[in-house]
Amino acid sequence: MTTETNLNALIVRRTKLLEKLSSYGEHIRGSINEICAACKLCNCTCVPSNPKKQYRLTYKDQTQRTRTIYIPKERIKETKSLLLNHQKFKSILKKLAALNFTIYKCK
Ligand SMILES: [Zn+2]
Repeated sequence: MTTETNLNALIVRRTKLLEKLSSYGEHIRGSINEICAACKLCNCTCVPSNPKKQYRLTYKDQTQRTRTIYIPKERIKETKSLLLNHQKFKSILKKLAALNFTIYKCK
């Protein structure tokens, strides 16, 4: 395989990765915490234990300050999906960066 063919194959791979990356464009960063609805703690201290749970999303804002917002129960599934999209987005971005470096070295 010539260097040019090799380079073209790498560029095709990059185009595919960019397409894949855009499919995970809708994403959010953070983590979901399950807390007790009564005492608002992750490790419930209620006696007897309160079975009702609430969910919070913890994330860092643009200034890297930790923020927490309440997630309504009906949005848990959507939120988990958006968080998973972020993981996939980051993973593809890593591959893309490595591939771009390989392309850079080929030129
Ligand atoms: Zn509790």
